[in-house]
Amino acid sequence: MDYQAVLDEVAAYARPYVRQGEVADYIPALERVSPDRFGIALVDIDGSVYGAGDWKTPFSVQSISKTFSLALVMAHAHDDEIWSRVGREPSGTPFNSLVQLEWENGIPRNPFINAGALVVTDRLQTLTGDASTTMLHFLREESGNEELAFDQAVAGSEADHGDRNAALAHFMASFGNLENPVPSVIEHYFWQCSIEMSCRDLATAGGFLARHGLRTDGTRLLEAREAKRINAVMLTCGTYDAAGEFAYRVGLPAKSGVGGGILAVVPGRCTLCVWSPGLDRRGNSVAGAAALDHFTTLTGWSVF
Ligand code: GLU
Repeated sequence: MDYQAVLDEVAAYARPYVRQGEVADYIPALERVSPDRFGIALVDIDGSVYGAGDWKTPFSVQSISKTFSLALVMAHAHDDEIWSRVGREPSGTPFNSLVQLEWENGIPRNPFINAGALVVTDRLQTLTGDASTTMLHFLREESGNEELAFDQAVAGSEADHGDRNAALAHFMASFGNLENPVPSVIEHYFWQCSIEMSCRDLATAGGFLARHGLRTDGTRLLEAREAKRINAVMLTCGTYDAAGEFAYRVGLPAKSGVGGGILAVVPGRCTLCVWSPGLDRRGNSVAGAAALDHFTTLTGWSVF
């Protein structure tokens, strides 16, 4: 397959969608990003990298970091302990919703809504002593980009507007579902969301999901069944409360973030990352979803 030709065609297809969404405005640091940007990168399982548009421009990874925190918890623990503290069902409610936590005794529906990600970050904090730095170092290694860094303005802005995440964390702590103090858990969560990466960086760093758990250097990060599970939860829960629609249109495991990025996996073949900051009302990049939809249509590489 001529990957470059496919990406060029996908980028041309997605262009008209680029200004259709709204840039996230819940924190000032994200609102400043130009809505005109679009990039796409593809990394083959052999490590070859292809891209089109703004594929080397760093953006705020936001919720895409939830994929990596889950992977790191599995890689450090290699047990199922995390699944006694977080579920794996789509929530059908917004990413920052509190309501289901009361019905389910402080157990979040899945690791990709904020409540679930806070529990995963808490577990990673216990396992490593420094959840956000562990993630930054891991992402530098896997992407091959030593320059990756936290965006201090974004992390600070998240903390200034962090009442909802603090509420989620305190509520779960009241059920005994956090091991570390709430301020420390939310601080690490905000730092991990603030990491800046490009489509190239993210598609490269996520390669272990396409390689059934093998890292960039060929060593094993996850057992194949663990990588399979992360891909399954990405497919069912990775695109906010539009995961059903996303599976219908795109048919790939994917995790989106309000920075406008979407990391998608074609197991056994490649990883993709698209970025365009305009979001639909569910929080997914409009042009990013259109691009992935067109990619699986052109290639036939939906998992279905
Ligand atoms: N840092 C964001 C928050 O917790 C993540 C939002 C997202 O990308 O879903 O509100």
